Amino acid sequence: MATTSSKSQKYVYLFGNKKADGNGGMKPLLGGKGANLAEMTRIGLPVPPGFTITTEVCTYYYAHKKTYPKELWGAVKSAVANTEKILGKRFGDVEKPLLVAVRSGARDSMPGMMDTILNLGLNDQTVVALEKASGNPRFAWDCYRRFIQMYGDVVMGVQKSPSEDHEPFEVVIEKLKAELFPGKEHVEDTKIDVKGLKELVARFKALVKERAGQEFPTDPWEQLKGAIGAVFGSWMNDRAIVYRRKYNIPTEWGTAVNVQSMVFGNTGDKSGSGVAFTRDPASGEKVFYGEFLINAQGEDVVAGVRTPKPVAELIKIMPEAAAELERVRQTLEKHFRDVQDFEFTIEDGKVFMLQTRNGKRTGLAAIRFAVEMEKEGLITWEEAVQRVPAEQLDQVLAPVFDRAAVKATKCIARGLPAGPGAATGQIYFNADRAAEAAHRGQKVLLVRVETSPEDLRGMIAAEGILTARGGVSSHAALVARQMGKVCVCGASVLQVDYQAKQMSVGGMTLKEGDFLSIDGTVGEVYPGEIKTAPSEIIQVLIAKTLDAKESRTYQYYAQLMKWCDKATRMKVRTNADSPDQAANAIGFGAVGIGLCRTEHMFFEGNRIDAMREMILADNLDDRKKALAKLLPYQRNDFAGIFRELKGLPATIRTLDPPLHEFLPHEADAQKDLAAKMGVPIEKIQRRVKELHEFNPMLGLRGCRLGIVHPEITEMQIRAIIEAAILVQKEGIPVKPEIMIVLVGFPKELQNQLEVVNRVAQQVQEEQKTKVKYMVGTMIEVPRGALMADEIAKDAEFFSFGTNDLTQTTLGMSRDDSGPFLQPYAEAEIIKQNPFATIDQLGVGKLMEMAVALGRKTRPDIKLGICGEHGGEPSSVKFCHRIGLNYVSCSPFRVPIARLAAAQAAIEEKKAKATVKKK
Ligand code: PEP
Ligand code: MG
Repeated sequence: MATTSSKSQKYVYLFGNKKADGNGGMKPLLGGKGANLAEMTRIGLPVPPGFTITTEVCTYYYAHKKTYPKELWGAVKSAVANTEKILGKRFGDVEKPLLVAVRSGARDSMPGMMDTILNLGLNDQTVVALEKASGNPRFAWDCYRRFIQMYGDVVMGVQKSPSEDHEPFEVVIEKLKAELFPGKEHVEDTKIDVKGLKELVARFKALVKERAGQEFPTDPWEQLKGAIGAVFGSWMNDRAIVYRRKYNIPTEWGTAVNVQSMVFGNTGDKSGSGVAFTRDPASGEKVFYGEFLINAQGEDVVAGVRTPKPVAELIKIMPEAAAELERVRQTLEKHFRDVQDFEFTIEDGKVFMLQTRNGKRTGLAAIRFAVEMEKEGLITWEEAVQRVPAEQLDQVLAPVFDRAAVKATKCIARGLPAGPGAATGQIYFNADRAAEAAHRGQKVLLVRVETSPEDLRGMIAAEGILTARGGVSSHAALVARQMGKVCVCGASVLQVDYQAKQMSVGGMTLKEGDFLSIDGTVGEVYPGEIKTAPSEIIQVLIAKTLDAKESRTYQYYAQLMKWCDKATRMKVRTNADSPDQAANAIGFGAVGIGLCRTEHMFFEGNRIDAMREMILADNLDDRKKALAKLLPYQRNDFAGIFRELKGLPATIRTLDPPLHEFLPHEADAQKDLAAKMGVPIEKIQRRVKELHEFNPMLGLRGCRLGIVHPEITEMQIRAIIEAAILVQKEGIPVKPEIMIVLVGFPKELQNQLEVVNRVAQQVQEEQKTKVKYMVGTMIEVPRGALMADEIAKDAEFFSFGTNDLTQTTLGMSRDDSGPFLQPYAEAEIIKQNPFATIDQLGVGKLMEMAVALGRKTRPDIKLGICGEHGGEPSSVKFCHRIGLNYVSCSPFRVPIARLAAAQAAIEEKKAKATVKKK
């Protein structure tokens, strides 16, 4: 049954009648939707027949000035013929017309980002045939008006202009309803009768003519061509581009086009459409979850125009269809072994499947699905670990409202809990204004009657999203869930007035810019700002205000982390400069400090004065006197950290930043300091001038400071070793690892190593106590990576400082690259921000080289990373692949890094097993 138009290239894949050319494993070629339509057809689920045009055609289309391979149209024609044969209908026939739906379908689903056209094939003749065939004129004309609306919007560009708040077709509908039902508000579309629908068709056609400047096409083949072109065209629309950028979907993937025979959910009260999840995608609970609308097409459910009913109620209305859906639910989970999000239509009591895909889920649901599916024997524990996207852990660590604060406030509206978490912010009724306000630094809540893909920018910028209409599978809910945004939707008591930029609720009027709070876990809305509280996991692990047994969320999390420890090879440490931070990180499972930035310690209390004295000193003696004042502070800090770590390793780095960072630059502050120190202000001003550098990041910093002023290193090493001995004497084991910073020349390290060993020896002799310590270096300039074999002769460990290594390898300032990184991403020069995600091809190559060279000299050298990348999942996985022993990241990212490290280990194991099998 394959439609192979050319021997070498197959552009069209058929499905129908329990047979399919494709299968679920062909997502790159057929897109997610196309591949799964084929898979569902194969496993005997009721899928209306049709065909998929491959993503390769999309690639061809853009590579060849928006034209198609010449064989394509012939292949499409025979694919239509195949569908006609299965159904006994004909495309464009005036007796039994075949109508089709044309939908996009990328490899990864991009909900609502691209275009869909339903009821294609209708014109003034076929609508009559449909009227006769169905015996339902209202239905036929409803299909026709929907088709003109969608086609007019998507293919002919009849859309709202930036100054309009409503779609032009909706304006026409509202106007007609106002004429037909004078004085009545919120009249449902289903109340418009056949005569009204015919009038609507005429008005829609006129609107198309007026706005698009041409007649609505009547030839179904012309319609099909236009629709296919529009779907491929929508791959490059603004919102799809924004979406791809956010989710790192490569442009090269392209979209497929699915052409599928129509089934109708709008033939009457025995029909309907719905969207369902095999389990609850918000809470993760194992309940059939979803909603449907009677007498409606699928798009109505997703668009959120009418508020649908929960699927649980279907059993009362159509028990047979409900039983069939339950069978579908179980078949899907068993077959796909993951929670499915599917679309169905019931046509005159019979269920049809239009789509299935792995359901998007909140972080909480992801963990719960994984843990419970393992328990049910559906997946292995290793699969469970891989099922939770590491970055989603952020969501379960996100704050919730302070319970007492909520009690003291009145809930003013309720809606559906569509995106868990607590959000407070200033309200905006328009996505652009919301995005601008967020850009100005405001915390923003986007409030809309309902959202559409055009609102994406505003949704990304907002802390939370609130809608007045729409259900849990409305656009707002889908997108929020995926982004991990707090969302309450369908809060129907809200009266939003876009024109007046205000909303009223419960006798209150709130203007744009007023504060509001929403709880997306329970679906409640509160006036004003509400204090937030830490998540239950934080309450158990860090604040210790909640008993682990009281929190189910914590228990799921704990099980997941247990599996992570079982899988992982790479350890996770933390970047911490204080005992508190270390304690938090240990609570999250860190096994030591990978970076203690000693300079951060100088900004506390009045120690900055001693630091400034040291910098201002004219001669060595004065500098030593100032350093002597700093010594007890440092010793104390280190002792506190060692006590907290209880024998876990602590990598402590010598002073790094340029000295002028410690001096005041404003005249007033300089005056204060002069008075405090009893020196003339001119002296301070002169020293600030002397220390001024044109490129401070490439100037007197890092080990250069310790080489020019060895007394600084001497003081720091004395503080570390004295603190270590002190704590060791208290009976607590210590593991100091002294890290020399910004090394590019082996001699730089040797120079500082001499100081370290000399002072350490001296202190041990003074204290008559031995203490074990290691000395290593950061690899954060390219020369350090290139000379790693030489440097490893003296370094017992390397820690990659990928912040500086990125800065120096790319020659891009880590502090000044903001203005050009965005244009670089838009021009697709870079795919991701290299300061957030390791540039694996460039910086990564240097890292791999340093790993190999370092191990060549010293096979047991300890290797880690302490740049910001150490907490970013794909970078963590890269670190695993190149063989690092640990990653180090900020305390709150420790769970994310642990999960990513475990996933990397499992991926590696799987890859090895596959190679072995082969
Ligand atoms: C680095 O450069 O990656 C690093 C960890 O050091 P800092 O950010 O302090 O320069
Ligand atoms: Mg650095």
